[in-house]
Amino acid sequence: MVFCRGCGKQIHESAISCPQCGAVQTPNHRNSNLTKTNDNGTWQSVVSICLGIVSFVTIAETNKLDHDQFIGVIIFCVTGAIFGGVGFAKNNGNKVAPVVGLICCALAFLATIGQSF
Ligand SMILES: [Zn+2]
Repeated sequence: MVFCRGCGKQIHESAISCPQCGAVQTPNHRNSNLTKTNDNGTWQSVVSICLGIVSFVTIAETNKLDHDQFIGVIIFCVTGAIFGGVGFAKNNGNKVAPVVGLICCALAFLATIGQSF
């Protein structure tokens, strides 16, 4: 429960306006609730998917990765996998996005290894 900005009565933390006085509750007022819903690892999952895709594109556009490209793509894959793992850990709902990110990075990693030998 949180307190209304208008009348100070206790209202539900997800309430958009106060049922007592009708005062609209600002996002700041509902900060704890918003933080909880926003911090479900969404951006980490998105970063993970992006890094996986970038890795794939790099591999696809290059016939044979040189040493620097190899290191770069591996770093992208590992970083993406870390972000995917964080997104997976933070996500309380369906874990599709972080799993997609992890799979992208894992496949890109394997593809990179496969292309280099
Ligand atoms: Zn009120």
